[in-house]
Formats: sequence, C-alpha cells, structure tokens
Amino acid sequence: MSSTLDLLRPEIRHLRPYQPADYVGGFIRLNANETPWRPPGDETRDGLNRYPDPRPAELTKRLAGLYGVQPDELLVTRGSSEGIDVLIRAFCRAGQDNIVICPPTFGMYEAYAQLQGAGVRVVPLERATGYSLPADRILEQWSPADKLIFVCSPNNPTGNLVPDAAVDRLCVSLAGRGVVALDAAYQEFAGVDPLHSLLSRHENLVVLRTLSKALSLAGVRCGALIGRSPLIGLLGRVLPPYCFPTTSQEAVLRLLTIEAQGELAARRARIVAERERLSPAMAAVPGVDRVWPSAANFILIESGDAKALVARARAAGILLRDFSWEPLLPGCVRITVGSPEENDKLLEALNS
Ligand code: PMP
Repeated sequence: MSSTLDLLRPEIRHLRPYQPADYVGGFIRLNANETPWRPPGDETRDGLNRYPDPRPAELTKRLAGLYGVQPDELLVTRGSSEGIDVLIRAFCRAGQDNIVICPPTFGMYEAYAQLQGAGVRVVPLERATGYSLPADRILEQWSPADKLIFVCSPNNPTGNLVPDAAVDRLCVSLAGRGVVALDAAYQEFAGVDPLHSLLSRHENLVVLRTLSKALSLAGVRCGALIGRSPLIGLLGRVLPPYCFPTTSQEAVLRLLTIEAQGELAARRARIVAERERLSPAMAAVPGVDRVWPSAANFILIESGDAKALVARARAAGILLRDFSWEPLLPGCVRITVGSPEENDKLLEALNS
C-alpha cells in the first residue's frame, strides 16, 4: 500500500461501500422504488423521476477530458467546497488529527475542519513578501498529527500564485507524512496551468477544481478532486451514492460542448483584460493606498478608510467584500472583476 493511502482514516480504508441498484440501459427498472412517470414539466434528458447515476460516469469522463486526466483520477463533487469536506473527513480523525492552513486564505478549510472535529494549525502567509507561502516554517513545524495542508493558488483573497517550486518542495518533504491539497479554484485566470505536471510528480498531491468561477456555473455546484487513481477511489467512499443531481449533470454536459468552451475562453480573456484595467484604475482612486497584484478574477486593495470606501460603493448599489476586520488584511477590501460596465460604475462611484 502506498504511504499516502496509509494516511487515510482507517474507517475509510476499511469501509464497505453501499451497493446501489444496478442500472442497465434499456431495461425496465423495477429495482429502485422509483415512480414510472416523469413529473409534469420535466424536460431533462434522463427524467427526474429516476435516480441519477450513483457516480456520474459520463460527467466524470467529460471533466477528466477537460482537465487532461484519466476518469479514475477525478472525483466529481458538489462544488469544490464538498471536495474540501471530503478531504478533511477522509484524512482527519476527530479530536486527533489536524489540517494546516496559511491565512489569509479561503475560510471554508477551517469551517469544515471544525465540523469534523479536526484541529487547525495556522502558519500565516508572509505579508512582507507579497503573502508568500512560508514553506520553511510549514516544514519545520509539521507534526505527526498534521495530515493535510491546504495551499490555495491563486490565493483567495490575496490573488497571488504559489510558485510550483514551493508546491514541489512541500510534496517531496511531506511524502509519507502529509497530503498537499492544492486549491486551484481560480487557476484559469492565471494564464498558466502547472497542475498536470505537478500531479505527475507527486503521489501525495490532490488538486481541487471548480466550475463555479471561470466556467460560469456557480449555481450548478460542481467541482472535482483530482489525484492518483487509488486515492481518488478511496475518497469516493466518503460521498453518498446519487449525490450529484440530474439537472446539474445535464447543465455541466451542455457547457462542455466545443461552442460553449469557445465562448467561455473569450469571457475569461475579457475578465483578465478587465482585471488589468481595473488594477491601475483602482490604484488611482483617492483613498486607495495599495493594489495587490492578482492572478485571479478579483483584486485586493488597501485603504486607510476601507469602511468608507465600501460604503461609497454600496451607496451606488455595488457590493464589495470588506476584509479590514481581519488582522492579517489591514485595510483590505476584495473586489471581484465584473463586466466592463460594472467596473466603470464602480470607478465612477469611487472617484466622484
Ligand atoms: N476554493 C476557493 C479558493 C474559493 O474561493 C471558493 C469559493 N469562493 C471555493 C473553493 C468553493 O467554491 P465552490 O464550492 O463553488 O466550487
């Protein structure tokens, strides 16, 4: 058995998965206690009266194609939020094991750890060096109870990329001792995609992807966990069968057509161009002291009076995310890059 699999909770390794009812195309289904008729108004391809595929095989294959991996290396999840939850539940025993996080970062790592009863060890990013990942400190402080580290790149809310070399270093040093979960929710806006090559080098790396950001499907709740096949197979045991709804499967499959992908790529380019326009424009807004460089679809700004800036935007009908309460983000406000018209409105409101 590989050493990464040894880090899984023993209950997960020994779990006997639930056996769902057989599905055989073209057969009459009298084995799942469903209703034979579609509900009124149902326009889905497969019928909402039927359970979805216990594991969405077609979707898994298509998403694996999108991300350039094999289907057995990808687990479809309900948003990447669920991927975070699956990882913590699979690796952390309540009251015994820890996750490691590097704030300021996405808040759900900590929230899911608390739900699971896992400890949270904090090694903050280094603000003085552009919120860089403190790989030395993480490795120095790693303890036998630490099972999983979340590395977010581009990081939410700071927007910076973590260099591949830092991810390589963590993976190599933690082999057999810990798993690196690389949250790549905003990867498509970064213009580089090192994930495939990172995955090929490291058995203790798992990548989280989401369709909520660059793929415009936040409402569908679809994400993916990507890693080596034996690990992905065992992580799948944490998810109940039938958990990915028919409507969501069909919505994603429609988006994975060549035409839809072409349109999304064009939109992504537009968001990146708007980010590059908005960043210097925000730096020129009165009261803005700093704009952090971003590889994502948002920018982080700093102001001596963040609350007043957020209030000015709000008065113009625009919501921004105020992070100035967070000691690691003094005076910071996160601004999602909107459409050109939305960004113009924001600039007008803040400059007037
Ligand atoms: N990871 C990061 C870094 C995020 O910012 C978010 C959403 N804000 C998520 C994961 C979760 O996204 P979803 O569940 O929609 O895939």
